[in-house]
Amino acid sequence: MRAAVLEELGRFAIKEVPDPVLDRDEVLIKVKYCGICGSDLHIYKETAGVAPGHEYSGDIVDMGPDV
Ligand SMILES: [Zn+2]
Repeated sequence: MRAAVLEELGRFAIKEVPDPVLDRDEVLIKVKYCGICGSDLHIYKETAGVAPGHEYSGDIVDMGPDV
């Protein structure tokens, strides 16, 4: 899958990353929209090597057997 990864402080790149492996009680969401909040601003200024964005919505495309 593709992700916007903060490769270094202040610079994003669209990259192919491994598909997540679901636990039994998790769902996989294909993100359609993602917001930006104060936590993301701190990540943008202080943390490289991550794909920020924890406030999103989308479609459930897979789920573990206990969901
Ligand atoms: Zn937030």
